Amino acid sequence: MSLFCGIMAGMTSAVPPPPVSPCPSVPACERCLALAADPRRREPPSCLALRNTAPVVSQSSSGVPYSMLTFCCRDCGTVWRLYDRANELFVSWVPEHPLVR
Ligand SMILES: [Zn+2]
Repeated sequence: MSLFCGIMAGMTSAVPPPPVSPCPSVPACERCLALAADPRRREPPSCLALRNTAPVVSQSSSGVPYSMLTFCCRDCGTVWRLYDRANELFVSWVPEHPLVR
């Protein structure tokens, strides 16, 4: 019986897929547009809130390790991913959806 319970507990630890952004058609705010124009800056704009505190660490197809953090804008709801590759001076900010002007 205890073995069975352990298996059930292991199954419930599966992470559900992240929810889809509710309003993808909201126009991007000024700070997000500025970030899109300068996606290599390391400092996040003040409107971005860190979504997942633990960075996702993975490898690119060419074998370069990188870490990724997810941010969400408090003003316009744009979701940003911050990619930080090993041995690279600059980071890159990638919006989850194309920005709406
Ligand atoms: Zn914004």
